[in-house]
Amino acid sequence: MPELSLPPDCDALELAVPGVRGLSPYQPGKPESELRREYGLDRIVKLASNENPLGPSPKALAAAAECLADCHRYPDGNAFELKRALAVSLGCGAEHLTLGNGSNDVLELVCRAFAGPGRSVVYSRHGFAVYPLVSQAVGAEGREAAAHGPEHPQAYGHDLAAMARLMDANTRVAFVANPNNPTGTWLARGELEGFLRELPPQVIAVVDEAYFEYVDQPDYPDASRWLERLPNLVVTRTFSKAHGLAGLRVGYALSHPRVAELLNRVRQPFNVNLAAQAAAQAALADDEHLARSRARNSAERRRLTGAIADLGLGLIPSVANFLCVDFARPAAPLFQALLQRGVIVRPVANYGLPQHLRVTVGTAEENDFFLAALRDLLA
Ligand code: PMP
Repeated sequence: MPELSLPPDCDALELAVPGVRGLSPYQPGKPESELRREYGLDRIVKLASNENPLGPSPKALAAAAECLADCHRYPDGNAFELKRALAVSLGCGAEHLTLGNGSNDVLELVCRAFAGPGRSVVYSRHGFAVYPLVSQAVGAEGREAAAHGPEHPQAYGHDLAAMARLMDANTRVAFVANPNNPTGTWLARGELEGFLRELPPQVIAVVDEAYFEYVDQPDYPDASRWLERLPNLVVTRTFSKAHGLAGLRVGYALSHPRVAELLNRVRQPFNVNLAAQAAAQAALADDEHLARSRARNSAERRRLTGAIADLGLGLIPSVANFLCVDFARPAAPLFQALLQRGVIVRPVANYGLPQHLRVTVGTAEENDFFLAALRDLLA
């Protein structure tokens, strides 16, 4: 098709709603296939999107494959079986659950149900990039709170007092990532519970626990335990990370049934597909795969942390399945140099961290490949 020119009086940008006009799209990790095309490399290691390097449970794969024979049928729009399995696993009623096409979908549902023009949404600087996107897309005002500074034990992490100060009568949603991406920082039980208890009653608090299964800190809270006492709390989780199902897209929210009922009003009827429902249900039943994924991550995160520190580089202490490495100089050229050596990591300049790169904890072998590339380019 020839290059299309725009008539001067018909620019789609001018037609878009104000919130969308100011948005920049989410930047995903660079796909392996793209790097292969660009550089013709034999070996590529992708440590860019915080996926589980062990892959999914073989039982989840088998369940997904088996259900494909029925893919001419719509999936169960209420995902009865998956919700029942989740409810058993989480120890709650199915009426507390809202399923999403990834937890990203659920974050958006919260904004569609509760935010909008004339309302504001509060989140932290260096917080997950989707929060401003889903807030502004619905016309709400996104308010970014200052984060902790580099010297704080939770360097660049959420400063909950600063978030609370940004709230007023029009604030309807507050996003808290625990742990946060891309920093890997986390909030301890007492601090987070205190913040949630003090929230004004008109604020829906979303505690995003996408990396919940990976955290092995004794003082890390399971925020869903507070749902009984906090009717405006929404806790989001996903099958994309520790369960290894990022490509199938399943996430969920736990909330008061009243909130779940509102989220379900704006949910697309078949937002979780057939294979995703089957795989997620099977993944839930495979405790062994989850335990193996967690143990490998903890061991490799520890090893990678030590090796990076030995190279004289700084690190934000992380409890998740990624590390944010501080190069103390602009990191963009280092990102390119790693690409040329077949390693895809994630630049985080768009998160206000231009001197850092975020690296997913891979398998021992992938991490060795990354460390060798890093040593080579620093030499
Ligand atoms: N929250 C956080 C903090 C994340 O890092 C991610 C994925 N990068 C998500 C939510 C969304 O993940 P998904 O839609 O795959 O569940």
